[in-house]
Amino acid sequence: MKTKTIDWSGVRVAMFDMDGVLFDSMPNHARSWNQTMAHFGMNLPEDEAYLHEGRTGADTINIVSLRERGRRATEEEIREIYHYKTQMFSALPDPSAMPYTLDVLRRLKQKDILTMVVTGSGQRTLLDRLQRNFPGIFLPELMVTAFDVTHGKPDPEPYVMGLHKAASYLGRKLKPIEAVVVENAPLGIQAGVGAGVQTIALNTGPLPDRVLLEAGASWLFPSMHDLYNNIPL
Ligand code: CA
Repeated sequence: MKTKTIDWSGVRVAMFDMDGVLFDSMPNHARSWNQTMAHFGMNLPEDEAYLHEGRTGADTINIVSLRERGRRATEEEIREIYHYKTQMFSALPDPSAMPYTLDVLRRLKQKDILTMVVTGSGQRTLLDRLQRNFPGIFLPELMVTAFDVTHGKPDPEPYVMGLHKAASYLGRKLKPIEAVVVENAPLGIQAGVGAGVQTIALNTGPLPDRVLLEAGASWLFPSMHDLYNNIPL
């Protein structure tokens, strides 16, 4: 595990992934993906869902469709399958916020660091929950979701767009070195690193640490609490 301390002095923006970082929502996602694909006659084991984490729904559906049926899904199929998955997910018990997340967000605010959400999710229920669980923390104009990007993670586009939105909010140019990304999944880490942003890995799921470090994470912590302990005032 990398233990070097984070130098927060030049950091102005912190971009947080949502599922598996802000919310303990990955077990529900893995389960609903598995059940949805089974409903449509395809196999997506729950463990595999963690490796697709961060992709848009459309990308995940196409990868599984190509493997299971030898072809990409049509636009209509993608809409139908993703709609079904969204309903399965919404029917499961509400995922809770990761412990210590609000403490981390408030401390960053105290340090005058802008906090943003950059997610591949298009789950409107979860996006609403952001406002309920972390009131006043995330501004809508500083969010990047599945609705904003053409290419989902691992493409750097979501984080590049995050930097653009932050720069336009701050009214000045922003260098990638002035930002950090907080991610839990290898594809998300690749996206952050691809955008030139130093990335903090929180290993909140079943994957071994080395998978996250090999994806390019600069730091790795086992939980939000450990990250909190690494943000001195
Ligand atoms: Ca994630």
